[in-house]
Amino acid sequence: MENNSQSPSAINSGTLYIVATPIGNLKDITHRAIEVLGSVDWVAAEDTRHTQKLLQAMAIKRPLISLHDHNEQARSEQLLERLQQGESGALVSDAGTPLINDPGFHLVKLLRQQDVKVVPIPGPSAVITALSAAGLPTDRFSYEGFLPAKNQKRLQVLESLQTDTRTLVFYESPHRLMDSLQALKTVLGEKRQMVAAREMTKAFEQFVPGSIEEVLRYFTDHPDKVRGEFVLMVMGDVAEPQQEAGDYDELIVSMLKQNLPVKQITDILVDYSGQKKKAIYSRVLELKGS
Ligand code: SAM
Repeated sequence: MENNSQSPSAINSGTLYIVATPIGNLKDITHRAIEVLGSVDWVAAEDTRHTQKLLQAMAIKRPLISLHDHNEQARSEQLLERLQQGESGALVSDAGTPLINDPGFHLVKLLRQQDVKVVPIPGPSAVITALSAAGLPTDRFSYEGFLPAKNQKRLQVLESLQTDTRTLVFYESPHRLMDSLQALKTVLGEKRQMVAAREMTKAFEQFVPGSIEEVLRYFTDHPDKVRGEFVLMVMGDVAEPQQEAGDYDELIVSMLKQNLPVKQITDILVDYSGQKKKAIYSRVLELKGS
């Protein structure tokens, strides 16, 4: 493996580093994140007081600049200018990876348009952390962020995902958890498998697996657990494999050998399989003639 380890002095000028920070457990900060945060000219943060505490815990002192949803457009122009003048900066959010349901998209898009270097410093993100321990399929998944707050809109979004075969991942807050679980049950059905991940990497970390109905019942019965931060993961739609009329050949042949009339065999199999009468009837005739 190539050794790309860099010393803090290897920070490049005119570069913005996108630095992931812990989602609960401070020990999840990476060596590179510490190096970069300790070396850049400034750190742009969603909530400067929150980030100040994180930097203090790592004995890092850097100037902090606020960058949140409400000032991102204007702030991005200022940061672009400073980077173009040769400064280096870091972007962090309150927890996890910036831009993943956190500010930064506008800034990174602008920097890319202006050919300013943007370097990711990877680390925790709730979506990947949750999937890594849930035991649901991860070969394909769809990250859906937060479901809409309004019930009508929430149901509409879920309806658009009803037949999606990928694992669905949602972020959720405790005060909307029960409404969202209820909406999942209404649209995706009570039997669909899911896992609710709560307070990951923190003292009360919990994974609640089961059908949507079971998970809903668990939180209804344990209101004290409707607290903290949640990731909801729902198994994708698994269509029942359609059976073909030909799948009943053995049964048909055996009934024909007993000289049962074609109509009776057809009726028995339609009842038994739930398949279309026409398909079964033609297959019985075919086998009778062969
Ligand atoms: N940027 C973050 C990331 O990379 O995951 C996500 C920020 S988003 C504003 C916050 C949401 O992420 C929470 O409401 C929750 O759904 C999820 N989340 C963050 N930390 C979590 C944790 N420790 N356990 C469970 N969910 C968490």
